[in-house]
Amino acid sequence: MILPKNVFFQREINVSENYRGEPRRDLEVVCYAMRSILSGGLQNTFSDVSVNIVECPDLTQDPFMLTSPGLGGSPRLADIGGPAYLIPLPQKDKRYSFQQIAKAVELPNAFMIGAGAGPHHIVGVNSELMNNVKLNEKAEIEKNNAHIAKVNQENGRCILEKLNSNEFCLMGNFLCCEGKPGKVIEVKAKKRHGEENFMSSMRKTLYNHYGNKSVALGGVFLVERGKANLHIMPDFSKTPLTSQEDTNKWLRFYEMNAPLICVGELVSHDPDLDLRIEHFHCFSKHGQGGHYHFDVTPNDVEYRGYFTVAEYIYRIDKPPVITQIGR
Ligand SMILES: [Zn+2]
Repeated sequence: MILPKNVFFQREINVSENYRGEPRRDLEVVCYAMRSILSGGLQNTFSDVSVNIVECPDLTQDPFMLTSPGLGGSPRLADIGGPAYLIPLPQKDKRYSFQQIAKAVELPNAFMIGAGAGPHHIVGVNSELMNNVKLNEKAEIEKNNAHIAKVNQENGRCILEKLNSNEFCLMGNFLCCEGKPGKVIEVKAKKRHGEENFMSSMRKTLYNHYGNKSVALGGVFLVERGKANLHIMPDFSKTPLTSQEDTNKWLRFYEMNAPLICVGELVSHDPDLDLRIEHFHCFSKHGQGGHYHFDVTPNDVEYRGYFTVAEYIYRIDKPPVITQIGR
């Protein structure tokens, strides 16, 4: 589907066809299948794991602070832009609005959560985006509790702020749904003995089971105890970033404290759409936030997450060039 002015190139794949032939109406059946798959696989990384299908807790309440109560109703992923618009030098004209994305994923009243890059033309510098917005039937913003994390240019510390804008830049990896209450996959994990982070552990477990048939999850998880390694993108690099080493030197890494609220999505296998297969950003009530890498307290860490299974992935404004840097 080509959108007006050819600004976007959009491709849509129906991942629900991959759930072992289960029809869309049986997403709940898929959730139950994933329960045992995840429960088994996560034990390779965590000693204490419990996966259940539960009624979604009210996500508008503490500690989640999301703009809709649940993850129900037409769940789909939006993968917008990508690192190729940041590296080697930023394409500052890559700007998007939440309304535009809601229309592109054919869900004007979307509840949207996930990871992206903040609007540099509003914030003043490059930043991390923790998306968390709800639109109404007219695709107007009804609630916006999105946050951005940026680097304090004087002391290098994290600044976490509410986003006073309906725009973002460069890339986005969002779960879009109607935000209705309903059944979700609850994953609790603690006492990490493996090397994988929480999300990679889930993603690789799903890949090991589903192979080349892509399945996708989106949602929210909490780092309830422990500390995590997060990065924040500082302002744009003036020199080209031509390797992962350059990029790691440019990024700022931090140890941040629980409780952290992390929003995003994961895909078990990229069906050649240049997808970001795992992308979660965190915010908090204590001024910390950024891109989740891994926890640094394996004995103490405690995770609790709520996820839904996406029916579709929409690939929007895919970069013409693929880069492996900055993923
Ligand atoms: Zn990120």
